[in-house]
Amino acid sequence: MLLRFTRQSFFLLAGLLLSHYSPAQAPAPTKPLLGFAPAQASAEYTLESQFDAQLKADNLREWMKKLAAQPHHVGSPYDRENARFMASLFKSWGYDTRIDTSYVLFPTPKIRVLELVSPTAFKAGLVEAPVKEDPVSKQTREQLPTYNCFSADGDVTAELVFVNYGVPSDYEELERRGIDVKGKIVIAKYGGSWRGIKPKVAAEKGAIGCIIYSDPKDDGYAQGDVYPKGPFKNETMVQRGSVLDMPVAPGDPLTPGYGATKDAKRLDYKSAPTIMKIPVQPISYADALPLLKAMGGPMAPAAWRGGLPIAYRLGPGPAKVHLKLTFDWKTEPVYNIIATMKGSEFPDQWIMRGNHHDAWVNGAADPVSGMVAVLEEARALSELAKTGWKPKRTIVFAAWDGEEPGLLGSTEWVETNEQLLKKNVVAYLNTDGNGRGFLGAGGSHTLEPFFNQVARDVTDPEKGISILERRRAANLVNGSPEARQEAQSGTDMRIEALGSGSDYTSFLQHAGIAAMNVGFGGEDAGGDYHSVYDSYEDYVKFKDTDFAYGVALAKTMGRCVLRLANADVLPFSFQSFSNTVARYGSEVKKLAETMRAETDRQNQLIQDKRYDSVADPKETLLPPTRKEPVPYLNFSPLENALLRLEKSAREYDKGSKKESSLSDAQKLELNLLLYQTERYLLSETGLPRRPWFKHQIYAPGFYTGYGVKTLPGIREAIEERKWTEADQQIRSTAATLDRFTDQVDKAAAITGQVSVK
Ligand SMILES: [Zn+2]
Repeated sequence: MLLRFTRQSFFLLAGLLLSHYSPAQAPAPTKPLLGFAPAQASAEYTLESQFDAQLKADNLREWMKKLAAQPHHVGSPYDRENARFMASLFKSWGYDTRIDTSYVLFPTPKIRVLELVSPTAFKAGLVEAPVKEDPVSKQTREQLPTYNCFSADGDVTAELVFVNYGVPSDYEELERRGIDVKGKIVIAKYGGSWRGIKPKVAAEKGAIGCIIYSDPKDDGYAQGDVYPKGPFKNETMVQRGSVLDMPVAPGDPLTPGYGATKDAKRLDYKSAPTIMKIPVQPISYADALPLLKAMGGPMAPAAWRGGLPIAYRLGPGPAKVHLKLTFDWKTEPVYNIIATMKGSEFPDQWIMRGNHHDAWVNGAADPVSGMVAVLEEARALSELAKTGWKPKRTIVFAAWDGEEPGLLGSTEWVETNEQLLKKNVVAYLNTDGNGRGFLGAGGSHTLEPFFNQVARDVTDPEKGISILERRRAANLVNGSPEARQEAQSGTDMRIEALGSGSDYTSFLQHAGIAAMNVGFGGEDAGGDYHSVYDSYEDYVKFKDTDFAYGVALAKTMGRCVLRLANADVLPFSFQSFSNTVARYGSEVKKLAETMRAETDRQNQLIQDKRYDSVADPKETLLPPTRKEPVPYLNFSPLENALLRLEKSAREYDKGSKKESSLSDAQKLELNLLLYQTERYLLSETGLPRRPWFKHQIYAPGFYTGYGVKTLPGIREAIEERKWTEADQQIRSTAATLDRFTDQVDKAAAITGQVSVK
């Protein structure tokens, strides 16, 4: 999986002309550095220049060639080969290296049949055609077939219904048109949500099968030339991917909440709650066309129609399809490579840096482009170590396996080592696929000022300005009104909140470890995601052609690692966090108000028969169903907690400027407090209906998948109109924030600003 960025249009020529322009990057010791006194800051800047000087784009290129040479999904020989190769690299650089193995369920297809049985006959090919320009696309023997991992076994025949993106609101539209998917097979477009939401909602609505296809309007020729002429999806390309119910819990579905060690107790796969309940198959637009063309029924709403040369109709039928899927429900090893450089002063404080190494097929972009940056960072640090330098804190590199099927490697590793990690890990720094263009960063807002300083100090390879300034310019030119306003104000760039979609998930949302997820993109659009064409050829032709952004990523993440590892006082701060959570608080309050007004308005329209008055008598368009009015909720516990947090955060950030006058014992106590604060944002009981997710500020959406829900307990209770639960979640979130603020007060007491009450 990988982070996707908004596409921006820029002048390619300007980018090319400037791509080798790199102005002298003299470290400016006068620039303040969070966590370092001025004299130490200057030494840190020198160290970072030495680190930068080590980084070589050619290493990234050579490792990508090697790691993406063959398909390397979970359980494949090349997955193991890559794990051994990377372990040998880390070892050769002097890291204490081991391969930690977990044993996870990894179903692969035995039988895949999708056919139109009436009114005409058509059998879907379900194959991506090799192209001569891209040699690895011909490795058909080693490739996994196109499939959705953790689909159910099934053999179903039924009429088709077109459900747009297959999110809950799409079903409300269908309902108004008198269309029920019970007993039917739905066909949904990729996009609009994480893919696993589509079969999940379809099954909840009573559908017995689900087909997901890539529509050329969203992902294909409507965007530009298709592969291999251009980077966009050609007619046979298919997006593979997991449909494990990850918003409930990622990781091995047979060992929920604990490590999938060799002898762990396992559920029967037939009763595992996170495995999809209906069969689901992804297809290309060439395979989708005959199915959609054979459909009847009312026209799909204008916004639902795609880019195929047909009238998009909703069904049900008369197109009737047969979908038969059988899987081999086997257990496979996943190999996590863990490489450690021990800290000289605080060996029990770990800075963790990771990326996954498994792919759906060859995976040059996803995940190898991020993985090779991690390798180069590790190599560059080992060169610094050869000169006698040692990090104060321990640095742990991780190359995760089994990310694609459901964050299996990292989740099982975190579950196996949970107590130790909660005690020792200061922060987890993640990347996944990397591309060309603009900085994208998400993470814990206690690290926002820290990360802004990092981005301030890295130069964009195409423009010669900082990656922070380029991001700011993009926000000013193309951003939402809110992003524009923020960029204008000159304050810190706001980092995104993290939902899910890569290996930070277990660290942040299960173990309460502050995390960041970073990557570049926006100038590297394409349709290769999770297909056989995500290859080295594709990457060097259409993405980060000269690996300049791979090096920029290594500079960015290397700085994060170095600063966290060496800081005198850990660079956590609390005002950005406090402001951000206060904003989330206003959002959920406004959400309830907007829903109340909208519900009242719509109920009035229904009562006054306005919908009946406008409906075309020759078509079916029922009024929406009347909804229960939205009651007034009591937000005051949350507001009081936020007010208290704001005061304490201000006190700490004010005091943190005096930290250099603290004794060593005080610094040690303070640092322990600081990196443990994120743990206090967990609640032991977790979120309603998904106790694995324990973070009370950030979670992936139950009905959006990767997309984040902030203050998830409160926000989702309101969205799902569970008013009693909303009230209870407001109180429990407020209590969580109060426990967090207690820790901030303790930290502020050490820096001498307030006394602990
Ligand atoms: Zn990935």
